[in-house]
Amino acid sequence: MALTFSHRFLVIIMRYRILFSACFLFLIASCTEPSKKEATTQETGAAETEAQLVARALEIHDRVLTMDTHADTPLRMIEPGFDMSVRHDPNESGSKVDYPRMIEGGLDSIFFATFVAQNIRDDEGDSRAKALAMQMIDATIESTLENADTVGLALTPDDAIELERQGKRAVYIAMENGYPIGSDLANVEVFYDKGVRYITLVHSTNNDLADSSTDSKGPEHEGLSQFGEEVVKEMNDVDGLTVNLSADSLSEADQYADLDIAPVCVTLPNDAPHRGNKTPKGLPIVVCPAQTQEDMSCSRCQLCQIKNRKSIVGFLAHGTAGKRLSSKLNEENQTV
Ligand SMILES: [Zn+2]
Repeated sequence: MALTFSHRFLVIIMRYRILFSACFLFLIASCTEPSKKEATTQETGAAETEAQLVARALEIHDRVLTMDTHADTPLRMIEPGFDMSVRHDPNESGSKVDYPRMIEGGLDSIFFATFVAQNIRDDEGDSRAKALAMQMIDATIESTLENADTVGLALTPDDAIELERQGKRAVYIAMENGYPIGSDLANVEVFYDKGVRYITLVHSTNNDLADSSTDSKGPEHEGLSQFGEEVVKEMNDVDGLTVNLSADSLSEADQYADLDIAPVCVTLPNDAPHRGNKTPKGLPIVVCPAQTQEDMSCSRCQLCQIKNRKSIVGFLAHGTAGKRLSSKLNEENQTV
């Protein structure tokens, strides 16, 4: 499973009934429940060699339903001549994913993100963005139809499991940057009906929905705009559409929690358990128990799935993303 964390807080609002959670839970649960072989190694206390570690990782990779939750490949799919059924050399084309390499790498499912870079925010710009997003969605669907013997379009978590049973890879569609929604709320359902299953509201600069943490002009809406709030609510009314929000600070997490529509989770720096544990409005931040407690698995915990809890769940970021989060917070002298 490849997960990419933003350098800023990644705030994910998941609808309580969101079906995708089952898929993610399955993945995480599969990864966190020790196999008999692992338990034996742990019991005997024998040191694991690198070769054994790699073998164990490959065994887990083979056993679980693997998912890459974000690839920008639709940008390539609209390039003339780009063929998803052909194996590309990344050194020549820069392409990171195609169907042959999904098979080679044992990747069972993927979210292809239609990404439209932020541009002029007027009716003309909005309709150009929508047309480009539609072109990428159509190209993604077309690629699944042209390669129907190896992949299939997936709309629910069950689809991924069913496609894997058939020996096929599952292709989900996502949208990165809500720019193509423009100022028309009806577009949320239009994109959902086309197959989009999560939308990241904003990218590297502010748009009509929300502020971006990397816009050099600074915040414009203090988090979500009025229209952004309407979009989040509309997305929660469409069954099975995940809202992916990025926030500059925990005060934005408070803002999303105020919408009272879904559980709010934030990505935290790795040293978060040793810092304070409240948002500016005083909501307790609970670090994901499945990440911090030896005997807890995601499938048993499910804290993040409770809709009306009075806390925010924090997931610890991994690797360089975690280090960047820590240094950013230290710079800003924020308490997390
Ligand atoms: Zn992307």
